[in-house]
Amino acid sequence: MSNRRLQPDTPLAELADIAPRELQALHAAGLEQVQHLLRRLPRRYEDRRSSAPLHLLQDGEAVSLRVHVYGTAWRFAHKRYFEAMTGTPDDPHGTRLYLRWFNMPYVAKLLATGMNLSVFGKVRLYGGKLTMANPDFEVMDDEDAGRRLVEAALGGTLMPLVERKDAEVIHTGRIVPIYRAIPGIAVRNYRCIVWKVLQQLAQDAPAPGYDVAPAYPYWQAVRDIHFPAEEAVHRKARLRFALVECFEQQFRVAWRRQRLQGRPGQITATSAAYMEELLQELPFELTSAQRRCVQEIRTDMASPRQMNRLLQGDVGSGKTLVALCAMLLAVGSGKNAALLAPTQILAEQHYRNFCRLLQHMDVPVSLRTSDHADDTGLILDAGGYGDAPRIIVGTHALLYKKNRPVNLGLAVIDEQHKFGVEQREQFIASGDNPDVLVMTATPIPRTLTLTLYGDLDVSIIDELPANRGEIVTALRNPANMKRIISFMREQMDAGRQIYIVSPLVEESDTRKQSSATSELGRWNAVFPERRIGLLHGRMNADEKESAMQAFHRGEMDILVATTVVEVGVDVANANIMIINNADTFGLSQLHQLRGRIGRGEHKSFCILLSSAKPGEPGREKLEVLCRTLNGFEIAEEDFRMRGPGDVLGTAQSGLGRVEFPEWLADMRLIHRASRDAAAILSQDPELKLPVHAPLRRLVQGMDNAGMTC
Ligand code: ADP
Ligand code: MG
Repeated sequence: MSNRRLQPDTPLAELADIAPRELQALHAAGLEQVQHLLRRLPRRYEDRRSSAPLHLLQDGEAVSLRVHVYGTAWRFAHKRYFEAMTGTPDDPHGTRLYLRWFNMPYVAKLLATGMNLSVFGKVRLYGGKLTMANPDFEVMDDEDAGRRLVEAALGGTLMPLVERKDAEVIHTGRIVPIYRAIPGIAVRNYRCIVWKVLQQLAQDAPAPGYDVAPAYPYWQAVRDIHFPAEEAVHRKARLRFALVECFEQQFRVAWRRQRLQGRPGQITATSAAYMEELLQELPFELTSAQRRCVQEIRTDMASPRQMNRLLQGDVGSGKTLVALCAMLLAVGSGKNAALLAPTQILAEQHYRNFCRLLQHMDVPVSLRTSDHADDTGLILDAGGYGDAPRIIVGTHALLYKKNRPVNLGLAVIDEQHKFGVEQREQFIASGDNPDVLVMTATPIPRTLTLTLYGDLDVSIIDELPANRGEIVTALRNPANMKRIISFMREQMDAGRQIYIVSPLVEESDTRKQSSATSELGRWNAVFPERRIGLLHGRMNADEKESAMQAFHRGEMDILVATTVVEVGVDVANANIMIINNADTFGLSQLHQLRGRIGRGEHKSFCILLSSAKPGEPGREKLEVLCRTLNGFEIAEEDFRMRGPGDVLGTAQSGLGRVEFPEWLADMRLIHRASRDAAAILSQDPELKLPVHAPLRRLVQGMDNAGMTC
């Protein structure tokens, strides 16, 4: 590698000493420039610093050692191997460590008596001898050995030496970065390339993008994250990058918020007649939280500004009804209102639900899903949705330009974190800035609300309808079923119905968990006189529907099911839910499942079966469920226990790529970032200052991404 300092955008092809084959492999992996290479972070680290005097080494211990080679030899046991007898010169015990290389004949060309090595590997005791099989090693005092090693490994390709002082080991004796393998490049060589590039990177290379933490130079942090001297250093570097990612995310949110707040909208909600009519006909009153949310929405709709509002509420808190009220307000003002649902099942459910609720009113309801796109019985033809203002329910199909509702006054998005900002924009891009109401399907942690929906105003339904029966949640060991069975009998004698949920559909050899099909047999044997049905995802739609209907009509006492009962099941008379292997489910999922009971006036019981003992994995979340029914609290706990990456499944979150998910759980970081972002925008709303040029680039393309068309 030449002596000139490398810049972030130096093409890797200019580094004369990356072998052509390796360059090809790097290019194939999408790495063209120095910065691409350096932004590809280690997947994990291996701490190879651990060292101990030879005579104290234990069988099975993984250690990094400095040793002296006293002799080498080819040997044969079961197969041929090359052996180096090593030790440490200052060891009063004269302990010997035998390094053995199997199937690596080139090692013989590299090692010679008298060399000093740094080695890393797992110590094994064989026949009283301390050995290491195929250890990673570096020759410490023989510069040519490095060259020979690489040449040998590559079958002759030349790779000049790393100029290495005695203290500078790359693969041993330090915290070593482990990268995802790139086909065509030996693991050690890849690490070497990164090392060399870092050595030669210009000290004063500018940070890419807007520099949020100039006190800790960006490229120093890059160095630290690849070859950290200490664990604390690598954490500090990660935090630096997390801060950048968090800031950029929050800046986009702040930018969107600023833009949204300036957008003109329609004045709707001029007549509440339809809404009043619906509320008259309902057999219950809105809760005061629902009333407050409806009022907030109505005020927004009646204002000349575009509404951009998030509606959050726990499972069963009645979000759908609030959304329907808002849609009727739009229809009452002569506009169409559309609801975008994340799945076909949910879209159909909303559609049926609305048809039922509005059957005595002259508000038409249309459904548009990919399945029904040409079913004119459900949907008016593609030319439009008819003249009369109506409610339109649909899936992603609504996002296609030809399906986009016209004359749209209100767009409701039943988000379920499934739609991203772009899709949100696509949906509402009707040219006349409809009001927008986004609903989360389940409560999400506060940090995520700020991150995913920080550009929106928020309404929260923090109260459940009063007609809900109490739910008692209990954790039981499956070994004590006797009492549970007699309790089930008691409740069924009183006319109640029961859900039994299992993690699997069928028995599995690999997972020792209960399955719905085997549970069916088991409970038929326990309650031969009872009507027991089955519901799982492998049944076809008709079978599922008829099982559901039977349970709904009370023609079935027990419904044995998988998590398919999680959504869309509403049977007020069912008051017991028994969950097998409860510890194998996610916390939020268990909360969703439990939401199926407590829907009528009867006291309900959620029985979590698990043999996990206190302190064992899976136990803690069950204790959380027993402690609280509050979905917001449960969402926070779930987040804390599983970490942001898992909870979110970022791919479907609409958040885009998140490389440092730790910031997603860090309220302080998010607050700091959003404060900084807001300060910049209030000082320079159009980002005209030269220092803000990187920020302009950051938000470029956001403004016209479907906002008007
Ligand atoms: P969410 O979508 O928030 O989970 P839903 O809107 O599906 O909740 O409402 C759950 C059930 O509660 C529905 O059957 C709905 O009709 C009913 N419901 C909604 N609001 C009320 C209320 N104020 N009083 C009684 N029942 C209600
Ligand atoms: Mg709902």
